[in-house]
Amino acid sequence: MARNPRYDILFEPVRIGPVTAPNRFYQTPHAIGMGYLKPESGARLRGIKAEGGWGVVCTEYCSIHPSSDDSPFGFLTLWDEDDVRSLVPTVEAIHAHGSLAGVELWHGGSHANNRLTREPVLAPSARPALIPQPGSARAMDKADIKAFRTWHRDAALRAKRAGFDIVYCYAGHDYLPFQFLSPRLNLRGDEYGGSLANRTRLLRELIEDMHEAVGDRCAVAVRLSVDELHGPRGITSQGEGREILAMLAELPDLWDVNVSGSLGNDSRSARFSNEGFQEEHVAFVKAVTSKPVVSVGRFTSPDSMVSQVRRGIQDFIGAARPSIADPFLPRKIDEGREDEIRECIGCNICRSANNEAVPLRCTQNPTIGEEWRRGWHPERIETAAAGPSRVLVVGSGPAGLECALTLGRRGHRVMLAEAERRLGGRINRESTLPGLASWARVRDYRLHMIGKLSEIEIFPESSLGAEDILALEAEHVVLATGSHWRRDGIGSLGEEAAELGTGRILTPDDVFAGAKVSGPVLIYDDEHYAVGGALAETFRRQGHEVWLATPAAVLSSWAVMTDEQFFIHRRLLELGVEPLLGQKLARAAEGVAELACTYTGRIRRHDFGTLVLVTGRVAEDGLYRELADMAGRWQEAGIRSVTRIGDCLAPSSIADAVHAGHRWARELDRPPAEIVPRRERPLPA
Ligand code: ADP
Ligand code: SF4
Repeated sequence: MARNPRYDILFEPVRIGPVTAPNRFYQTPHAIGMGYLKPESGARLRGIKAEGGWGVVCTEYCSIHPSSDDSPFGFLTLWDEDDVRSLVPTVEAIHAHGSLAGVELWHGGSHANNRLTREPVLAPSARPALIPQPGSARAMDKADIKAFRTWHRDAALRAKRAGFDIVYCYAGHDYLPFQFLSPRLNLRGDEYGGSLANRTRLLRELIEDMHEAVGDRCAVAVRLSVDELHGPRGITSQGEGREILAMLAELPDLWDVNVSGSLGNDSRSARFSNEGFQEEHVAFVKAVTSKPVVSVGRFTSPDSMVSQVRRGIQDFIGAARPSIADPFLPRKIDEGREDEIRECIGCNICRSANNEAVPLRCTQNPTIGEEWRRGWHPERIETAAAGPSRVLVVGSGPAGLECALTLGRRGHRVMLAEAERRLGGRINRESTLPGLASWARVRDYRLHMIGKLSEIEIFPESSLGAEDILALEAEHVVLATGSHWRRDGIGSLGEEAAELGTGRILTPDDVFAGAKVSGPVLIYDDEHYAVGGALAETFRRQGHEVWLATPAAVLSSWAVMTDEQFFIHRRLLELGVEPLLGQKLARAAEGVAELACTYTGRIRRHDFGTLVLVTGRVAEDGLYRELADMAGRWQEAGIRSVTRIGDCLAPSSIADAVHAGHRWARELDRPPAEIVPRRERPLPA
């Protein structure tokens, strides 16, 4: 189909210093959990972004020198010529599709661990490391600053030798050049500290050094936090953020601006931000500089993108998460297929991959991170090698929907049966929680795409039993029947069942099903992710007194991986939810709960009107067991396989359910030897 002319402006080329981007789609630097240890995986991932139409594709953070090492997390390095060779495939993969390749040169200063290199941590002023750990950074003297400039320049030269078109100076997210800018972190008394002009000196010098070293062929980009969201104590877009930009306005070839301080501010989840949420802080930039500007804001709507450009907020559409959820987002707009965009849901599972030091994963895009190791492509898929099979998928949660869609794309004939009237499984429930409405995109995207495929027949309100399944003449049966919440109080940290008597003791399933709730509400969260805190928010907003107990030391503790824990904890406190930290549920009956201190075992009693147990889920695998017991009858029914996938096999995240559904559909008809994921290994010297 032809592109909608309304979106033509997004496909205009834009000049950046000595290079020209073919369009306005700009994949800003983002972590992929791969780094220097997985160069082939990284190259394939970035190449697919370029193939998908991103006119600029940048790497993740790339250390300029061993004095900045972020092990065990996935960071790149440009320390020597081996690193240059290792990055060439990434550049080539991006260039192969006519896109520009950018590299984000990085020095973490006191925001790095240096666990690998064991080099002392550097900072403008001596201070405890910015990452909680028992160690301090040492203040850089003049010789250190001089050396740092040389390292930065040398790394820029290596980047140029690797073939990069855009080379970044990274003055954001609390890293070293930003630490020099910050009045909180730079307490120096020399010409690099004190006045704003002095604090800006190093950044100015770095930009000049880079121009001089690589500026003939490479664009020099600066990534700057224009607001740390620390209020008047920090850099703000009304105050020094604006002044820094004005002072250096014409020096770089491109400004990549955002709100940060911590990464959590920049990549806020949908629970705490809307599309375009950074605009109020970055809108001033274009009035201050004539250079092209890029920013981010989880843009997935082409109309919002056009609006950004037309209203002069930015010249490019910067994106990390939208490009992860749909690497082909630009191509889909270009080809008039914007209805097929797999929109990011803002869940930040992608952030958790980096925070757990593993390759990127995404709730919406099961192929991300699998491009090299499993050979998965987000848009291309092998058709059924041995001709179409007739497959029955039971259950239409994220696992079943993705499995059916992927099977249909491969040309298999699919029957998708769902007990409920509405398809979507857990998505239908969890997306009703406060701030999680965008999670419904997991369901809606798949239903929309399934609607385009004649291979898939949908049977709602069809609760299938084993005999029904035997009668359906399916060659393969995939059970994606999901899970239910536990009623016994066993959770991640509370290994033993609680003694539970009578009284109003519910699980989230009961609440979603409309069970009556009377206060005070005591929620016991031993799952530590979204549902416990979100239910607390729901009940509090309904006017109940709410207590949120957890054996962990903070609320929603796993959400630290999605960069949400701080925001969740703050919101719950602001709403008046009362935390009960470090408490395990021992017993509950007749409106009284006994909670045992995680550390001492000391018991405290707590009255409740309703107790809600959010501790874990149990696979809904009864149907599977029934069918397994009937294996003798499969052959006469024409069934070749019966498989459990997703939560019905092992309850986990929505991302894992989608991945499981996708994987089963990809691997149908493939020999087992092919399905071992490749791993990158260093070769013997
Ligand atoms: P997952 O996350 O693994 O996709 P969900 O819990 O989201 O799992 O979805 C499971 C879906 O399976 C639910 O919509 C549920 O109604 C459906 N389901 C469970 N048992 C049956 C059955 N016997 N027949 C049809 N649908 C079923
Ligand atoms: Fe978006 Fe979630 Fe995918 Fe990250 S994991 S790109 S936030 S859908």
